[in-house]
Amino acid sequence: MPTSTEWLTDLDLVDHHCHGVVETDLARPEFEDLITESDAPAPPGTTHFDTQLGMALRAHCPPVLDLPAFASPQDYLARRAELGAREVNQRLLRASGIADYVVETGFQPDRILSPAQLAERAGARATEVVRLEFLAEQVAAEHDPGDFLTAFRARLDHELTHAVGVKSVAAYRGGFDLDPTPPSEEDVTAAAARWREQTPAGRSLRLTDPVLIRAGWWEAIHRSVPIQLHVGYGDADVNLHQTNPLLLSDLLRQARGSGASFLLLHCYPFHREAGYLAHVFEHVYCDVGLAVNYTGAQSAQVIAESLELTPFHKALFSSDAFGAAELYLLGAVLFRRGLGEALDRWAGADGWPLEEQQRIARLICSENARRVYGC
Ligand SMILES: [Zn+2]
Repeated sequence: MPTSTEWLTDLDLVDHHCHGVVETDLARPEFEDLITESDAPAPPGTTHFDTQLGMALRAHCPPVLDLPAFASPQDYLARRAELGAREVNQRLLRASGIADYVVETGFQPDRILSPAQLAERAGARATEVVRLEFLAEQVAAEHDPGDFLTAFRARLDHELTHAVGVKSVAAYRGGFDLDPTPPSEEDVTAAAARWREQTPAGRSLRLTDPVLIRAGWWEAIHRSVPIQLHVGYGDADVNLHQTNPLLLSDLLRQARGSGASFLLLHCYPFHREAGYLAHVFEHVYCDVGLAVNYTGAQSAQVIAESLELTPFHKALFSSDAFGAAELYLLGAVLFRRGLGEALDRWAGADGWPLEEQQRIARLICSENARRVYGC
């Protein structure tokens, strides 16, 4: 049903946290793997299409590929294969209306298009955010533990000549219940040596050491850059109870005045806790990306809840899309609709003038992100 907020369709969107798209043809198991946060196929005889995300996909994506809405998954994937991955990516990305992509490249970088390729397919702009733990793993593989910190600093400085910020996946690597202080250089060197010793020969280095994770955070804080933190739900290897953003409270306090901003990503089901942090700390922002896609027809409520405490100058849009271009389109469509429904409701309750609704929407859809990242 049309609402009075259809003007949202024309607003610029900055997707401040997403990943690249894959551009190979996808068989059904591969495609289904990209539309779930589970690391397992659906039980025999069932499908990951039977989810909020699956229904949203079937509602909004088939028409972009010239099929009727709610085409069957088989027909949809057959049409996808017929058009080819490049054409599908172009159509879906362009239909999203996203003007700027801030792309985090630290997850399966060999599988996804580069930010420049993504921008070309989308007919939009793209900038990059680098993953701290990924950089640390690369540096540790190339340098002796005694040189780790110097090499990490040099690598981070180099990356920040083009990247607009950093991302941490500490949530996946033990959670947030860490000492919030910066570790000493001696502690970092000892931790790098321990990490190397404890990793069997031939096994790739995977960073879970809390000292080195904190070191990455503080190197970024000292560089006064935007720091994205995965918060809340995600793949099956997250321990959800260790990712409540309130566990970051002391870190956020200690980083006040550093010039660094903290961007809490996804946040579901802790979006109200994240909203509180964004409310009380001047350098904290949040979004409900990922949750919007995965809650589908229910996402308007999640968006509205996230905006109960989050100041409107602290909320951002993201899709957190990885792999399937459908996820960008859905992120944009559902976010615009959910924000529109929320504004419509609040305008109905308190008579918010249209120009005020539009000003708030512009902050959330693009202006906050442009201010934080300078993009
Ligand atoms: Zn992400």
